[in-house]
Amino acid sequence: MSVEDVQDFEDFDELERHYKTTLSLSIENIYDKILKIAKSKKQDKERLSGVKNDIQKLAGPTGNFGFFQISNILKNLSTYLSKFTVENKKYKKKEKPDFEYIVNTLSEIKKILFSHESNKENRLDNTPTVISSSSMWFLKKIPENWNRKIVICDYDNRKYLTDLRDKLAYFGYCIDFFKEIEEAKNKILKEDIHLIMLDTALVMENKKIVPWLRKIKEKRHSFKIFFISSTNDFKTRLFAIKNGGDAFFESSTDVARVANKIEYFADNRRTQPDHILIVDDDINTLSYYAELFQQRGMVTSVTTDPFYVFNLIAESTPDLILIDMLMPGCNGIELTAMIRQHDEFLPIPIIIYSVFEKPMSVDFEISFSGYEFISKFTDDETFVSTAINRIDRSRNLRYFMERDSLTSLLNHSNICDSFQREFIRAQRTNLPLSYAIIDIDNFKSVNDVYGHFVGDTVLKSLAYMLIERLRTTDIIGRYGGEEFVVIMSNTSVQSAKKVIDVIRRNFSKIAHNAFGRDFNVTFSCGVAGYPEFPSTKIIFDNADKALYIAKKDGKNKVVIYQGE
Ligand code: GH3
Ligand code: MG
Ligand code: MG
Repeated sequence: MSVEDVQDFEDFDELERHYKTTLSLSIENIYDKILKIAKSKKQDKERLSGVKNDIQKLAGPTGNFGFFQISNILKNLSTYLSKFTVENKKYKKKEKPDFEYIVNTLSEIKKILFSHESNKENRLDNTPTVISSSSMWFLKKIPENWNRKIVICDYDNRKYLTDLRDKLAYFGYCIDFFKEIEEAKNKILKEDIHLIMLDTALVMENKKIVPWLRKIKEKRHSFKIFFISSTNDFKTRLFAIKNGGDAFFESSTDVARVANKIEYFADNRRTQPDHILIVDDDINTLSYYAELFQQRGMVTSVTTDPFYVFNLIAESTPDLILIDMLMPGCNGIELTAMIRQHDEFLPIPIIIYSVFEKPMSVDFEISFSGYEFISKFTDDETFVSTAINRIDRSRNLRYFMERDSLTSLLNHSNICDSFQREFIRAQRTNLPLSYAIIDIDNFKSVNDVYGHFVGDTVLKSLAYMLIERLRTTDIIGRYGGEEFVVIMSNTSVQSAKKVIDVIRRNFSKIAHNAFGRDFNVTFSCGVAGYPEFPSTKIIFDNADKALYIAKKDGKNKVVIYQGE
């Protein structure tokens, strides 16, 4: 199975069924080989070694797919066979493996495979998936409902906060109000709350809440604390910092700015678990680290073969690459240097690990190739937190580099690059791709009536709504002015139209507020895509034509380009 094929398995069950077939075939194959070796007169250590390796390679992925029983049987069988292989120096010529035992064991596996629909009851929902190929893949299903739950503890800012709640609700946030900190604590313990907004005055009265919240923060990587206060002096701000606050607001701050801050912490890409690519020639170490990171909710792609690294980086766009120092043919530093030769991979942090305490001396020239070093003997917690810190740091940098400063969406040049990349991928995988241009209706008059500043707030509110309502895989950018672009991979133009239509209706319902007056704003959208049109240029032009048609036809609508 090749890396490209991975895309075709959207559905976990389908993936699992596919794996089951692969597993059956592999077992049949091993069964045949063993029968042949058993029948041949002379002892064939080489071929036995080969079979042992086949079995060992199969054991790990099999467990990850939920076939735990089979995985264990395979592991035992591989251990048993290792006594008779070339690598085993103590191997005595006379000693023969018990072929009957091996064949019976393999038959048992076939029976299990035949009888059960994989041990679903044993499988946790988040069990990582592994696709076996000449290299190997681990994929993990991303939870559908990454929520944005917020708890607000209010003291005397009720009016401001209800307003905040009502507006944030449009962006898909789910917000609960509490008067008592104790009630809020209950909610935080029971549910996966993203954020607490606390009145500083409440905290001053109930100091015990601070160590309690810190403990929650330690356990939940994504949990954030925002302080709100009616005063904005140095002392209050310092109080917020000292008490673990991630952000501080005066209780008159513009809602869009609050949403901006929430969005920054709950960055679109952050709602996808961190993705780590691990390269290690040793399958056991590989599985160990993959497991370590998966247990902390991260996604891992792994390969035993440095040769596949470039494909894997391009396909899985990892947040971090972990590389083993010692690999046959190409060591970790050489591989890092090769990765660093690709400009587009430059921002991805790399950590090399090794049994040595220090990087071994390497050529002067490649020793500067941008990586961090960590010893394999580092304890698990430090290992993981080093990785997380590295990811956070590079993500923060990238966030500000790639984005439009007003809306935090991708900027013009980034959206063009992304479109090229997605188009090539769509052609190669033969999956549909949609390109949508969104343009705010009569925006000039918003500026004219309410001023540029209010206009900016409207632009931001549309940006947040797109971020909130679209899938994390969709690419959202601001093309410039009041024009936005959404690129949806694996989505037909018809589906894209439906999705954007829902956003269009919701956006038109937002009551924007300026100088005590409410007003509504709408947008129009033009959609075109692949496979209908054969190049990015033609798709872009046609989406633009569709937008023009939408405008001419009365605005506040989504139009697909149907051709002349
Ligand atoms: P239509 O419905 O046909 O799209 O009309 P429109 O008024 O939205 O379009 P037009 O292209 O005539 O005007 C766009 C306006 O957007 C003009 C410009 O002042 C404003 N604009 C562009 N960039 C920004 C920005 O960053 N902030 C604000 N506040 N306004 C902007
Ligand atoms: Mg315009
Ligand atoms: Mg416009």
